[in-house]
Amino acid sequence: MRHFDFKDGEMFAENVALREIAQDVGTPCYVYSTATFERHYNVFADSFKGIDALVAYSVKANSNIAVLATLAKLGAGADVVSGGELARALTAGIPGSKIVFSGVGKTGDEMRAALRAGIRVFNVESLPELYVLNDAAKELGVKAPVAFRVNPDVSAGGHEKISTGKKENKFGIAWSQAEMAYAEAAKLSHINIVGVDVHIGSQIDELAPFEAAIAKCKDLISRLRAQGHEIKSFDIGGGLGIPYGDNSKTPPPPAEYGALVKRLTADMDVQMIFEPGRMIAGNAGVLLSKVLYVKKGEDRSFLIVDAAMNDLIRPALYEAYHEIEPVKAPGSAYSESTYDVVGPICESGDTFTKSRDLPEMEAGDLLVMHSVGAYGAAQASQYNTRPLIPEVLVKGELYEVIRERPTIAEILSHEHLPSWL
Ligand SMILES: *Cc1c(COP(=O)(O)O)cnc(C)c1O
Repeated sequence: MRHFDFKDGEMFAENVALREIAQDVGTPCYVYSTATFERHYNVFADSFKGIDALVAYSVKANSNIAVLATLAKLGAGADVVSGGELARALTAGIPGSKIVFSGVGKTGDEMRAALRAGIRVFNVESLPELYVLNDAAKELGVKAPVAFRVNPDVSAGGHEKISTGKKENKFGIAWSQAEMAYAEAAKLSHINIVGVDVHIGSQIDELAPFEAAIAKCKDLISRLRAQGHEIKSFDIGGGLGIPYGDNSKTPPPPAEYGALVKRLTADMDVQMIFEPGRMIAGNAGVLLSKVLYVKKGEDRSFLIVDAAMNDLIRPALYEAYHEIEPVKAPGSAYSESTYDVVGPICESGDTFTKSRDLPEMEAGDLLVMHSVGAYGAAQASQYNTRPLIPEVLVKGELYEVIRERPTIAEILSHEHLPSWL
């Protein structure tokens, strides 16, 4: 079931007409569906019924505190990658005991904040980081719970920029150094080894890479246990892909992924941790935008819209495909045109799509780009001094702005002329 769909000739988010949100909040803006977040979370969590599992939603996919609080109510934990995301998760009511901390460059300050919050586990990615964590824990008189993120040298992910589990990537402890790292951690006074962690990539559209990574880690966990380490948890990261409506492969449904993981880990006696991001948030959001101009060039037609690459960078960064639809349902006998859909920014990269067949549109028409709930607003910037756009959360007939558009004055207030000017 889609929660963004046409009713009475126009597109709704659940029971709210997008036209109404556009009038009220202004365009461009992100619109999210509570029902979709809930359904995706529940489908994922339900596929692990009967086993000891923590679903630590990957905050970086969509980090709005209202989104986090929606998921927290369902029992979600959080996977954070910065002190800022840690603060978001705690603010949204996610307890420290359900928070895991990932990332290759955690600072001492971030570690201390996470230790004070009593987080579940640090996913440590290098020995230098481990030593800093040991010092931070010593200073606070606690023991830091640690899993090493290991790099299984498995190829996965739809795009080279989001593949993370190959040995040439910056992520994780090299496979050949993993046992040495655990031996080193066991010697440190303020480190408590609790698990093994792996995350191989994003937008993964088949089960084979997960299967390969799990098999390698299973082996590693046996060896680590034989060496006397207590391995209680196994975190297999995120990465399960979603359909984007183009012709690429349809990723396996969460239930199949769940069944595979359950089967492969059944005899491992570990608590499982998952860090899904895109799978929960991706299809829970649209970018609502207005056509500013239709420009007919010599050989192409451009829809110049009021959203731009600073609001949604995925097409420019990953050549990502997003389905585009008008908000007003095309009538039965509509005509199509082939458009390049572009934003107002002064870069050719500010192109959402090229040569897309769409219903003919005019200046003032509203359109949506689908599947932008993950890595949309979270990656936005204020390039070209375009204010961050609002985020709106819909729930049934209700909707509220969950992030406001800053004014230009607010943006400028953070800048200062130096004393000599
Ligand atoms: C980005 C990331 C995730 C989430 O990835 P998705 O593809 O959105 O599921 C999980 N864990 C880590 C360590 C990540 O960096």
